[in-house]
Amino acid sequence: MIYLDNNATTRPWPEVVDAMLPYLEEKFSNPSSPNRYAREVAVAVRHAREHVAGLLGVEPEEVVFTSCGTESNNTALYGTLHALPDRNRIVTTRVEHPAVLNRLPGLEERGYEIITIPVDGEGALDIDMFTRALDSRTALVSVMHANNETGVIFPVEELAEKTHASGALFHTDMVQVAGKLPVDLKTTAVDLASLSAHKFHGPKGVGVLVVREDVDLNPYLAGGEQEYGRRAGTENTPGIIGVGIASQIAMEGLSGMQQVQGLRDRLEEGILSSISNTRVIGGGQPRLPNTLSMYFEDIEAEPLIALLDMEDICCSAGSACASGGMEPSHVLSAMGLSRDEARHVIRFSLSRMNTGDEIDRALDLVNLCLRKLRNA
Ligand code: PLP
Repeated sequence: MIYLDNNATTRPWPEVVDAMLPYLEEKFSNPSSPNRYAREVAVAVRHAREHVAGLLGVEPEEVVFTSCGTESNNTALYGTLHALPDRNRIVTTRVEHPAVLNRLPGLEERGYEIITIPVDGEGALDIDMFTRALDSRTALVSVMHANNETGVIFPVEELAEKTHASGALFHTDMVQVAGKLPVDLKTTAVDLASLSAHKFHGPKGVGVLVVREDVDLNPYLAGGEQEYGRRAGTENTPGIIGVGIASQIAMEGLSGMQQVQGLRDRLEEGILSSISNTRVIGGGQPRLPNTLSMYFEDIEAEPLIALLDMEDICCSAGSACASGGMEPSHVLSAMGLSRDEARHVIRFSLSRMNTGDEIDRALDLVNLCLRKLRNA
């Protein structure tokens, strides 16, 4: 298999799996229990927290383990608004992940005014409109660091500064950024940040919400006092150990992303030069080094992906099957693509596990499959 769908999920590093196994077997204790076995597990959880904190440039106490990126986003949106009771506006963007967008109607029902900032055809945020949306009514801003479909990067540090100047809180969904770009939250005005372990070669079912020291967070799940009272529920200790190791490997290997970018560029240039009527979605914007969203004018994504799948190449489409039809992605729609155009978009997303040989083979096979479809 040539796996080019790493924005959907990544393969865990073998070191991650090896480190987790003992915590599914003999080291099964509940870290809150008062015995020496449990204390050993609690120490390992502490080390994992330190590794995650190191990856992000925050204090270990600012790391809250959750069950996924979705829970982290939901917690950020629901757990902070009580701190600014006189403000009733939430500002976000049209291209956020559904883990943010699908939370908004519930907040609107509670009386919040929701402003979703548009993007242009390249996926760049309308910064003027963003700035105008910030005033003494704004409680919370949630803007993703990088888009999962296009890889387009938003200037979150600048947006966080502007947000703080208006007295509001700033949350960023950086699920697609961890392990791909260097991050140092300490020097920024970011108050809350979401991560998901399975997007950077950690296990599924573990998320992180960074909650900066001065942010008053109401737990989303009521229950025990785990995670310093900010997230109830017995810790997923194997998963937490896994995300700790994944963070350590991500930090040590961040320079490897240059090589990933080289491979992505090779794939991009290879497709652009060998296949007519193609273009890169968001190609004029700063993008994640691993992501390539391609528009093929003459070819629909669905049959191309099916042919690539038969050749053992995994990638994603810009539209998803929903209730019998192809629903265009909200991200591509926000960028102005028509329903039909969105059906012609394929996303390739690489990781540090990909090799040059794989990319050359993928390029050959994309060309072969396209020829088959054109002659069909
Ligand atoms: N945010 C972004 C940008 C994502 O890409 C994803 C996953 O696709 C999520 C949030 C949700 O993460 P999880 O799968 O851990 O719930």
